Amino acid sequence: MATSKLDPEKLVYRFEEGDASRRDLLGGKGSGLCEMLQLGLPIPPGFVITTKASRDYFVGGQQFPTGLWESIQENIRHVESAMGRSFGSLTNPLLVSVRSGAEISMPGMMDTILNLGINDDNVDGLAALMGDLCPAYDVYRRFLQIYANVVMHVEHDTFEEIISQHKKQAGVSLDYELGVEQLRDVIADFKVAISRATGAEIPQDPWQQLKDAVEAVFRSWNNPRAIHYRDYYGIPHDLGTAVNIMSMVFGNLGSTSGTGVLFTRNPSTGQRKVYGEFLVNAQGEDVVAGVRTPQPICSLAETMPQAYSQLMELAQQLETHYRDVQDVEFTVEDGRLFILQTRNAKRTPTASVKIAVDMVNEGMISREEALQRVDPEEISQLLVPRFNVDVESEEVQAAFLAHGAPASPGAASGQVYFGASQAVEAAQQGTPVILVRPETKPDDIHGIVVSAGVLTSRGGVTSHAAVVTRGMGKPCIVGCEDVEVDLEQGLFTANGRTVHEGEYISVDGNTGNIYYGELETVRPHLGDLNEAKELLTWADQTRTLGVMANADTPTDASQALAMGAEGIGLCRTEHMFLDPRRLPAVRQMLLNAEAAQEWRRDHPELVDGPVDKCELPDEVGGFYKALAEVRQLQTSDFAGILRVMEHRPVIIRLLDAPLHEFLPPYEELLTELAELRAAEKASPEDLRDKEEFLRLVGSHRESNPMLGHRGCRLGLSFPAIYQMQVEAIITAAAGLIEEGIEVHPEIMVPLTVTVEEMRRLRHELTWVANRVQERLGVTVPYKFGTMIETPRAALTAGEMARESEFFSFGTNDLTQMTYGFSRDDAEGKFLRWYVEESILPADPFATIDLEGVGVLIHMAVASGREARPDIELGICGEHGGDPASVSFCHRAGLDYVSCSPYRVPVARLAAAQAALA
Ligand code: PEP
Ligand code: MG
Repeated sequence: MATSKLDPEKLVYRFEEGDASRRDLLGGKGSGLCEMLQLGLPIPPGFVITTKASRDYFVGGQQFPTGLWESIQENIRHVESAMGRSFGSLTNPLLVSVRSGAEISMPGMMDTILNLGINDDNVDGLAALMGDLCPAYDVYRRFLQIYANVVMHVEHDTFEEIISQHKKQAGVSLDYELGVEQLRDVIADFKVAISRATGAEIPQDPWQQLKDAVEAVFRSWNNPRAIHYRDYYGIPHDLGTAVNIMSMVFGNLGSTSGTGVLFTRNPSTGQRKVYGEFLVNAQGEDVVAGVRTPQPICSLAETMPQAYSQLMELAQQLETHYRDVQDVEFTVEDGRLFILQTRNAKRTPTASVKIAVDMVNEGMISREEALQRVDPEEISQLLVPRFNVDVESEEVQAAFLAHGAPASPGAASGQVYFGASQAVEAAQQGTPVILVRPETKPDDIHGIVVSAGVLTSRGGVTSHAAVVTRGMGKPCIVGCEDVEVDLEQGLFTANGRTVHEGEYISVDGNTGNIYYGELETVRPHLGDLNEAKELLTWADQTRTLGVMANADTPTDASQALAMGAEGIGLCRTEHMFLDPRRLPAVRQMLLNAEAAQEWRRDHPELVDGPVDKCELPDEVGGFYKALAEVRQLQTSDFAGILRVMEHRPVIIRLLDAPLHEFLPPYEELLTELAELRAAEKASPEDLRDKEEFLRLVGSHRESNPMLGHRGCRLGLSFPAIYQMQVEAIITAAAGLIEEGIEVHPEIMVPLTVTVEEMRRLRHELTWVANRVQERLGVTVPYKFGTMIETPRAALTAGEMARESEFFSFGTNDLTQMTYGFSRDDAEGKFLRWYVEESILPADPFATIDLEGVGVLIHMAVASGREARPDIELGICGEHGGDPASVSFCHRAGLDYVSCSPYRVPVARLAAAQAALA
């Protein structure tokens, strides 16, 4: 795109003067309108007030910057001459719309005012122009309603109630069925309601209306829902909004007029077919607000064939020009088509992937562009759950409640809540929530964010609920007219059944079906998603960063492989110890480890020798018996994982967890013992055993277990445990090699702080590995390395590398220890608040902190590579599945990231994007 010649100080640009490349100055909508006009599309004339003007407005203490008002007036004159109408004229009035339009689209979050310029004196002039009184009075009542809401903050419901009353009195059900007398009454009632609510009246002077409207739109940048939206999507708060002022065109001039929204491809499925909705005899907000249920766009082919064929041509032209799916707002005024807006369409993750891949195959975009167009999080949303039951079964069919329009895919079960705030309260208690409303409004955003799914009884597939949930990747059903919501009673009825607040329902955003009760859900298989598979294949050909998975069982390992993992970056062996069936042996081993160690020290002649031939004290014998049992279990665990992963690397971490995790809580044992003593029923031997157990558990108690006797500290003080694990790894690997299977285990030591820990452990464990290989007569290729998860390990990485063939950055602990924040407590106590208050820019446990943890990683990478150029470097903390952190890992020069199996596809795409960036 050519460099923009726009003057950044100029506050107002006519559409003819604007430059599509200056979204920052003209906003997305404004720059789009300028571009469309320059493409020759039928755009109503208008102009853009720049984002700079809105920023200056706030900087200047909410005052119009110098020259802005004069410039607006001058530009209105241009619109007047282009339309041949005059602002404020009694006989030939020009009406305008005033719309917000920020650089980054925030659909529905800020305000718009339509039909501005109308008043008591010119409504009849407008009627003469329209050839009918009804649409003119309808325009006036709409203006009063929207202006009073946006500028004077009068509640929507005030007006809806008045209209409902009048519709009831007139015996009609739709707004546009009201006659002129009834509309006059509505207008009179509106004025009374406005003055009652605010003590003020809507200005009759169109210029005053315009000035107030522009200010209100500026201020809407800071309304709570816009702030919430920006927080959610990480949009900066200081961008400000542009304001677009455009001549009104009328979709409510009768049956040859109307308004609609079209997508150049289906935004839900990605199918290459124009998709959209149209409302005859209506204005723009009727479609978006979801108050009336619109007709599909193809119906226009019959009712307004000329406008329809022109629209289809323009849709194609727009898609080809923008090289992406467009979301186009249009109005037909008495058979004449106007395009009001076009923007890149929001789409479901399914559509996003399909469209990107299809457009490559159609030759419209390159593979690189396709890879950059899909948000890695969308890939994870593709794997969203669906019902794991036969929905055709009698049982599920009996639970069927109603059917609506499927607006956003995925399946969810949850308890019904009717208000956004109630939804938030319930979700805070950990309750899965389905938000059920007649329709949602932008103010409901906080309720939608916490809900598992959304159901509305009104509105179409472009309504607020539909658009917002699609963007968030949660299931949504709209326009379900069989559902009658009674907000006061806190219930809804559907086909004769009643569902109260707090009861479970299940919604299927793929089919639009709603069921009573809770249904089990499952995730789809990546292997069945053809377009996603194709896109990820391109990602694999593009990325240079490896992607591995964190997996502790053969089942997890298979899942990781199915997701495209190239190996296991972290197998946490303590998870194998936590299996309840194994706990007795594990506990026996851990509790007697100290006694066994002391006995070993007292019998130096037996060091490294077999103990099974000796007379052993009870606890020592118990220790070795348990150790043998655990060794056998571990051998089969490792064999299982290595077998699944075959030639791929499998990094097995030696026991890391603090011992208390495997032992019963001390306080519980103490109470149990006190009860036994009080009951005087236990035998003295029983009591002695319990006391001894209590003493042993007590000896492992720590005030700060996460900073205590864990990781390699445990491995050094009780060498038999790590030795047993290494024996199990090498034995398992040797067995598979004998079967002809190539395997690559890597042995990883956790939580090191000094190279001396590594030196000793490496020496001792290499001896064990050698002994097993000799005994079995098999050579096992294995590596020996450490996690870098303490700041000291990172700072001394050069020395660590002397004893380590690989490093794996354990960024969960590294973040915990760099910040001094407990990873188990910080989130609920203060971390979320820290982020909300911008004390921290993001949660450092979710996204790598570049300035602290990131610097430690950079240092460790540099000194590790200097000491050992072929050192293998990776990351296995939760950050390995976070796109921003993946990008950091690419820049830091790591060899791979490792994350949970379901995040593997996300990491594959994020790694490709990092390579392209
Ligand atoms: C880490 O600390 O980042 C890590 C992967 O280990 P764990 O989460 O098991 O402590
Ligand atoms: Mg750790």
